[in-house]
Amino acid sequence: MSSSDALRERIHELAAKEYPGLEALYRELHAHPELSGQEKATAARIAEELRQSGLTVHTGIGGHGVVGVLANGPGPTVMIRSDMDALPVAEKTGLPYASTVSVAVETRAVKIGVMHACGHDLHMAIMVGAVRLLSAITGDWSGTLLAVGQPAEETGAGARAMVADGIFSRFPGPDYALALHVDPNIPAGKIGYRPGIISAGSTSLDVTVRGIGGHAAHPHQSIDPVVIAARTIIALQTLVSRETDPREMAVLTVGAVHGGTKHNAIPDEVVLRVNIRYNNDTVRDRMLASIERMVRGIALSAGVPDDLMPIILRPGEATPPMENDPALTERVRVSLISVLGDENVVLIPQLTGSEDFSVFGNGTPRVPICYLRLGAADPRELEESRRSGRDLPYLHSSRFAPPPDPTIRVGSIAMAGAVAGLLAPREAGP
Ligand code: ZN
Ligand code: ZN
Repeated sequence: MSSSDALRERIHELAAKEYPGLEALYRELHAHPELSGQEKATAARIAEELRQSGLTVHTGIGGHGVVGVLANGPGPTVMIRSDMDALPVAEKTGLPYASTVSVAVETRAVKIGVMHACGHDLHMAIMVGAVRLLSAITGDWSGTLLAVGQPAEETGAGARAMVADGIFSRFPGPDYALALHVDPNIPAGKIGYRPGIISAGSTSLDVTVRGIGGHAAHPHQSIDPVVIAARTIIALQTLVSRETDPREMAVLTVGAVHGGTKHNAIPDEVVLRVNIRYNNDTVRDRMLASIERMVRGIALSAGVPDDLMPIILRPGEATPPMENDPALTERVRVSLISVLGDENVVLIPQLTGSEDFSVFGNGTPRVPICYLRLGAADPRELEESRRSGRDLPYLHSSRFAPPPDPTIRVGSIAMAGAVAGLLAPREAGP
């Protein structure tokens, strides 16, 4: 048996032994989700897990960020990262460990449910799993492991806050950074990789369309911002279909419309929450300029006075496109094949989603990153959904219910295998 066969067997054995504890941790995290920036109990739980595996743990990095360090001899430093936050989604999975948590949020009159609808609970269990595996095979690798629990991924603020708080200067600077995200379009048991651009950049805008409110029975004495908002929403769609080079990736979504309170009153303003996706800054800048031009033009055409022109604000939710380092991705791919088998490591198409893990790769110095997508769909259900044309509940769905096994087990093996591959000790010299 070769040494890589022996290591693979050992990692699989350890993963099987650790699995029940990891699923229990996952269920606990799933039942107790916390919104972006409020991950206090979650972070404490992750810190405790990392400490139990022998890591030196630092907390409160960029908000509730957690950094665990395992120094295991000379060699490079590899960072693995899990996000920790949940979403304002009321869970409808019917799972026995479903979340019943609800909180008050600023934009809603009633309390809203909170759910790990993006699988960050799985990511945490997987990171803890990988750390446990790696701390059990310290004889097989040499270097430093940095295990990072990141807050506020969903708002795009967490990675930036951790960088601003000195994650790369207060702790050993990583030579490589790895992360994964569960993916309901890939069968559980498999993992997807992609060199180069893997996910889009994202920018969010709050567009306040202003008019002059009044009585519903006297529309001629008002300038109705609801009608202006409706025109604006439709017009913005031509920005992708008519103004963007068809060879470029661009998405524009108006995700929320807030205006008015009553049937018979015309409000003063309507707020549109707009999100755009792109692969490069040129497309982004063009889209931003076009949005401004269209929004203003439609207001002008409706007779809105100069002092009530629309206001466009960026609430800070922006993430750059994510680019996987090709050389690192190739090394990771080879390691993944050695622990999971050739048939379970698949090349995936580019994603239109966004991820602020890209922020860790865009700092100075530039850290090579590799972001993977982990299969998280029951293979039979996925096949059935492809046959019927009815998609399985995707990320952010209130019905997103990925199978914990084998997702957590395979994710832990993949992460541990990838890190061990990057930190494999060099052959001893003569
Ligand atoms: Zn998400
Ligand atoms: Zn996510």
